[in-house]
Amino acid sequence: VNTKRSRHESLLVRVCAELGAGRISEGFITDPGFQTDGLTDDASHRITINPAWQTVDTVLHECLHRLYPQWSETYVRNRTAYLRNRLSDAQAQALYAEYQKRVKRLKRTKRIEP
Ligand SMILES: [Zn+2]
Repeated sequence: VNTKRSRHESLLVRVCAELGAGRISEGFITDPGFQTDGLTDDASHRITINPAWQTVDTVLHECLHRLYPQWSETYVRNRTAYLRNRLSDAQAQALYAEYQKRVKRLKRTKRIEP
């Protein structure tokens, strides 16, 4: 059967196998004018993942919720984008480093009750 679901699953299997092949690095990527989350080098086929921008976006968003519980979700998203779009690479790296220093890693999955 070639259902939509089985095609999705076979693509996911291929992606997992590619992940298993390794050649992945993690680190900050400086790309003037862009906030680059990852890239693949055409020659070496090495992948570089930059988790800083995505993480900083989430940290800004949740800190704004905690600071301003009266703000709507839409407004928090607006202010998060406003701040993120004005961060320099150095500021993003500093926020990411501060987050790494402060974060408590949970041993169990946090469940949100429906
Ligand atoms: Zn939110």
